[in-house]
Amino acid sequence: MDLAYSHEEEQFRASVGAWIVEHLPHDIASKVRAGQRLHKDDFQRWARLLGQRGWLGYGWPRAFGGPGWNAIQKHLFEEQCALAGAPRIVPFGPTMVAPIIMSHGTPEQQQRFLPGIASGEVWWSQGYSEPGAGSDLASLRTRAVRQGDRYVVNGQKTWTTMAQWGDWMFCLVRTGTEGKPQAGISFLLIDMKSPGLTIRPIKLLDGEHDVNDVFFDNVEVPVENLIGEENKGWTYAKQLLSHERTTISDINRSKAELERLRQLVRDAGLTGDTRLCDDIARLEVDIKALDMMVLRVLSLEKSGRNPLDIAALLKIKGSEITQRYTELMMAVAGPYALPWIEDAMEAGWPGEFPGPAAAHSTLAMGFFKNRKTTIYGGSNEVQRNIVAQTVLNAGGRNGL
Ligand SMILES: Cc1cc2nc3c(=O)[nH]c(=O)nc-3n(C[C@H](O)[C@H](O)[C@H](O)COP(=O)(O)OP(=O)(O)OC[C@H]3O[C@@H](n4cnc5c(N)ncnc54)[C@H](O)[C@@H]3O)c2cc1C
Repeated sequence: MDLAYSHEEEQFRASVGAWIVEHLPHDIASKVRAGQRLHKDDFQRWARLLGQRGWLGYGWPRAFGGPGWNAIQKHLFEEQCALAGAPRIVPFGPTMVAPIIMSHGTPEQQQRFLPGIASGEVWWSQGYSEPGAGSDLASLRTRAVRQGDRYVVNGQKTWTTMAQWGDWMFCLVRTGTEGKPQAGISFLLIDMKSPGLTIRPIKLLDGEHDVNDVFFDNVEVPVENLIGEENKGWTYAKQLLSHERTTISDINRSKAELERLRQLVRDAGLTGDTRLCDDIARLEVDIKALDMMVLRVLSLEKSGRNPLDIAALLKIKGSEITQRYTELMMAVAGPYALPWIEDAMEAGWPGEFPGPAAAHSTLAMGFFKNRKTTIYGGSNEVQRNIVAQTVLNAGGRNGL
């Protein structure tokens, strides 16, 4: 297995990287680098620029207007975005729902929904989790009852990320109660401006409003917004989760944050602190190991072999690494890391501390913010169950 990039791949990396550096607005990159709050406009400005270049749907095939990149090219694009300080591409539209619309939507649905996703104009949210239906997602109870040419939806979704900015939501709803719970679930696209749909903010540990409760009170959804067949939504939902096989590890973001951590160490004059440097070295080894694991998966994909589905393993390692670098940043800042200063999250905050300490004012927020990485996308405990069932039982069939 050859894990080195080919000459063509290195060229691709350089040209994509150059475009990103040239077009990424400086104010957005500096917010990302400083760990400051990003607003809807920040995400969408970058999304629109990528959309104009045809790269927002960077995983899309050419047939649907995407660049048709292979797995390695997608990985290199993500790497260059992270290194340049680009905001995350909000995945709900381009990475999550778009492939489902491509594979299971009608031509009319494809024409109606894909252009708005590709251009970055339309913001999507993911309506899967409910109170009492997170890890055990199949027990979801939000009900959609067909009445003529529409479904009437009642129930509640929760933890819906950035729903306050959402134009549309892809939603799992219960349309049947016969047989296994998985058999009665459908996949609906819901206009979030529909009458009867209300959004209530949930404030998290970091004080930020990133997630929401979403309530449906007799929300009417035209039947043409059903994706695929009624009661087959579970199959599509599972497919959607597997699209994140390697990106879920967030390895490229971790590589960029490792550099930020090193800079903080240098600025704080702590390069002689051997204990701290040992911890950073251990983190770097783990980041390298995860990077190699991601490359092995990509290499298998490129050579046409079907890699073992190790999304769960990548998620566990990646989310733990994310939490570790935020912990180490706190350690570097020492007492300056303690204050939790909401105003410091905004660009232009004058700062209360002199010199390098000003750069520490967002660290507490970053630390709190990243406690959630071991929960969302399926909790790490549940991922460990999946690893036990799939990876260990499969006995390293693919050498992973
Ligand atoms: C910040 C954030 C953003 C999110 N964004 C979205 C979103 O946009 N859309 C969306 O649909 N959902 C979203 N989620 C929901 C997320 O997917 C769920 O929180 C997650 O799947 C866990 O479900 P739960 O919260 O109901 O916890 P539960 O399922 O109630 O689990 C509670 C605890 O029990 C453990 N546990 C449960 N079952 C098992 C088991 N079988 N074995 C061992 N341990 C177990 C869990 O690990 C956890 O520690 C988000 C969550 C967070 C925190």
